[in-house]
This record gives sequence, C-alpha cells and structure tokens, in this order.
Amino acid sequence: MTMPHAETWTPPPPNVVDGEIRNTEPATGRPLPPLPVTPDAEVRAIVARARAAQVRWAALSWKERERKLLAFRSLLVDRTEEMVELLIRESGKARFEALTHEIFPIADLTHFFARRAKKILQDESIGLHLFGPLKRSWLRYEPRGVIGVISPWNFPFSIPMGDVIMALAARNAVVVKPSEWTPRILLRAKELVEAAGIDPDLFGVVLGGGPTGAALVDSGIDMMIFTGSVATGRKVGAACGERLIPFVAELGGKDPALVLADAKVEDAARQVVWGAFANSGQICASVERVLVHESIYEPFVAKVVELTSALRQGDPAAAGLDHVDVGAMVVPNQLHVVRSHVEEAIAKGAKVLAGGHAHGDGGARFFAPTVLVDVTPDMKIWRDETFGPCLPIRPFRDEDEAIREANDSPYGLSAYVFSRSAGHAEKVALQLQAGTVMINDVLYTHALPETPWGGVKSSGIGRVHGLQGLKDLCEVRHVNQPRVSMLPLWMYPYREKTFRFFVAGMRKLFKGPFA
Ligand code: NAD
Repeated sequence: MTMPHAETWTPPPPNVVDGEIRNTEPATGRPLPPLPVTPDAEVRAIVARARAAQVRWAALSWKERERKLLAFRSLLVDRTEEMVELLIRESGKARFEALTHEIFPIADLTHFFARRAKKILQDESIGLHLFGPLKRSWLRYEPRGVIGVISPWNFPFSIPMGDVIMALAARNAVVVKPSEWTPRILLRAKELVEAAGIDPDLFGVVLGGGPTGAALVDSGIDMMIFTGSVATGRKVGAACGERLIPFVAELGGKDPALVLADAKVEDAARQVVWGAFANSGQICASVERVLVHESIYEPFVAKVVELTSALRQGDPAAAGLDHVDVGAMVVPNQLHVVRSHVEEAIAKGAKVLAGGHAHGDGGARFFAPTVLVDVTPDMKIWRDETFGPCLPIRPFRDEDEAIREANDSPYGLSAYVFSRSAGHAEKVALQLQAGTVMINDVLYTHALPETPWGGVKSSGIGRVHGLQGLKDLCEVRHVNQPRVSMLPLWMYPYREKTFRFFVAGMRKLFKGPFA
C-alpha cells in the first residue's frame, strides 16, 4: 500500500502515554506489549545503587572483571539468534544487519576491552622536558563513578552497549536510558549482563522519553554520553553544563561521498548503495550526498539505479534468512521527514530514478530505496539530515569545488572518497571536514573497537570507542614528585639574586645556546 502525501499526513499519537511506552512493530504495525516508564525518583534511586555497586566493582581485580565481561561476551554469542529476533521485531531491521551491525560488534568490543583495559589504563609516565632531572610526573586513570548514557533508536543494542561495556571495563557503573522506541533489547542485554555474574546494580536501565532522559542527567551521574539529534544534544549539553559534568555528544550527519574521476565505477556504486540504504538509511554516518565527477556520472548513476532496483524490501521476520536487504523505518515521524524531503525535491525539479514512495500494510513503515538526480543544493534532501533510504546524486567538474560543496554543511561526522589512487584519495580526504574519513569504503568503522568515533562541527563533541574513548571514561589524576631532595628556587623568600638567575636562565633556554 502506498502512503498519503506528506502534507496530508497527521502525526500518530505519542508513544509514551499515561506512564507507559506503547510501540508497534515497524515491519508489521502489530502492537508490542507496553512497558512502564521509570518514575523520576526511581531514576535517582537506580543511580544511587549504581554508585554503591561501582565501589565493589572497582575493588575487584582486573582479572575478575575480565572474567565477568568475557562471560557476558560468551552468553551473547550463545544467544545470538534470540537477540537478532528481538531486534528485528522491535526495530524492523534486516536480519543480517541485526547480526552484523549490532550483536557481532558488541561481542568483539567486549572481547577487546575486557582483555586490554588493564594495559590501556595503566599508569603513564610523562617526560618533563625542563624539570625531568629534578621531578617526575605520572598519570593514573581512575574511574569516574556512574556514567549516564542516553541513546537513539537506530542501533538500539550496539550504540548503548558499546558505552556500557567500555564504562564497565574502565571500572565505572553505568545507567542507560534507551530510546523510548526501542527499549526491549537493552532490558534483555541487562539480563545477560546479570547472568554473567555482574552485580545487577552496576548496570541500570531506566525507561521513558525525553523527561526520563532529563531526570537521568539530573540524577547525580558523573558523566553523560549522549547519542541522538543535534536539537536534543544541545539541550542535554546545556543541562550537563549546569551540573559541570563531562558531556560527550554523538549527533547527526549529512555525510558526503566524493566519487573522483579515477574511481572504479562499479565498486564505488556498490559501496555507495550500501552506504545509503543499510539500516534503511537510518545511520548517522549514512551516505546522504553523492558528488560524482562528470566524466563517470552517467555510468555511475546507471549502476546505482540497477543495484538499487534489485534490493529486496519487506518484513525481515516473515522472510527467510536471505530474503530481505532493506528493512522498515523505526519511527513514524522519521518516515514523514523522509517523505517530505523527497516530495520537496520533486517539487523543486529533482528526478526520481528508483523508489520515491512510502509503503506498508496495517501500519508497517517502509520507504522504498530512493535514488534522486537533478538535485540542487537548496533542497532539503541535500542540506538537512534525511535519516532514511535516499540517495541524492550531483555531478561535479572541478574537484576543489566538490570539496567546498562537501564541506558546506553544519555537519561533519564521516566522509567518503573513491579513487584508484591512494595518494589522490588521501589528498582529498584530508581536506574534508569530518571525524572519520574513509577511502574506498563506507560506514563500517563504528564497529572497530580500537578506533575513535565522533564528529566535528554540529555532529558532536568528544569521542567514544578507541583507546582515547576508554581513557575519557576515567578521571585522570596527575601525580608529581621530586627525584632529588631539594627545595625549589621559586619559593619564599623572593630575592633579586634568584630573579636575575631566572632571567639569565630564560635567555639561555629560549634564545641562547639551548634554544
Ligand atoms: P533524539 O534526539 O530524538 O533522541 C535521542 C535520545 O534522547 C532518546 O533516548 C530520547 O528519549 C532522549 N531525549 C529526548 N529529549 C531529551 C531531553 N530533553 N533530555 C534528555 N534526553 C532526551 O534522537 P533519535 O531520533 O532517537 O535519534 C536519531 C538521531 O541520532 C539522528 O540525528 C542521528 O544522526 C543521531 N545519531 C548519531 C549517532 C552518532 O554516533 N553520531 C549515532 C546514531 C544516531
């Protein structure tokens, strides 16, 4: 069934009503059993219990924590199929994506950080360039306490669980508010964590919409990791600023792909099609704008349309293991955004070469994978985050102009470059304003536990994942001590002799023989 036009659309009733979360399955429209919203007082109580549990957790040996985290990893691996089914039901994503975007990366991230946290967080010595012979400085990474996590609906398992496991590996407790659209998978994850022998109070889950998120920020947590939209990120950031707690923000994107004149046309087309339509385009790092050199524009567009037209879309739960490439859209409002972007683009002269419409029976929410050409930079589909399965393509003649156009966005999460020449691709990649730039590949680096993830400009503040991400979950304590027993010269009483000594020393150090 094709759905009505954007202007005749009326928003559905809110999904958090009368103290309950009420959702329907994205791929069928069937209602899911309601879940209770966590009252604000209980949010505070959960954080208080997490704080007490953190002290016990940090007192365990590194080996004991490693053993428990690896037990969670093993349970997750054992329960893969069950977790995949739950993800499909609640988020409507393709079965293969539930496995490879959600379960696999968390099994890997847990394996990685459980084994390496001790080494990554070991004391670090700092060589003092001037005072080294006299003084010694070193760093100790201490847990922060209770980490708060607020997460979105597009990766309801891998986004919050990456933060959860890293917080635990850094000896913290963690309390998560999952998106009100996809809370179930995290409740199941909490059960697995507990079954692994980890204190139930160490990992709290609170349920609800924005007000519950705001209550979590206000509950006495020691750091907030927020993933979601720019608009909500600003509000949560301001609330964290009021409380002077560290704030990491992983926000939206409008990621460009530059297909240079010397790119392999077919490979680039395959990458870009996957980059745009994986997870039904509901990825912060989805390919949302494609700039193609005019010399290969026609064959590239033809290949993209051919590959897009071959994609199979439908209910991943009903289909067999290899019958669905593109799943449903999680949130009704987002489906509306996608449809309004496409309709505005068409009204302004864009041409649809594939897809272009929403469909679904009985409240199912699908948007057909859509390819658009004759797109202009003033269109929403080119400027605003669409967060749906749409691929607008524009040709370019001049590479510098294409780089300027790619950078002409408030966002800067990821960017993609396609070229046969590593040198050429790197030259372009380094001029793109983005937290991650990938050459001849798309999307997948969020699944790498050892590399940092985050954006520049309005796409975010700070980084998750990677060694730096683990260290940022800690307070860094600087310890400084003398190597020799000698009182420093800069202490009382101040004298002319020591003043002159310092002036002479400065001249030797910074302008003289030692400069
Ligand atoms: P959203 O901002 O609507 O909601 C995100 C979370 O914030 C939800 O859990 C929501 O309940 C909560 N929230 C809402 N108002 C709040 C408030 N006042 N205080 C505290 N919490 C509040 O975002 P969404 O629609 O769930 O997710 C889609 C967005 O997330 C897209 O913009 C996407 O690009 C972005 N995203 C970014 C990344 C990244 O890594 N950069 C990853 C995934 C998604």
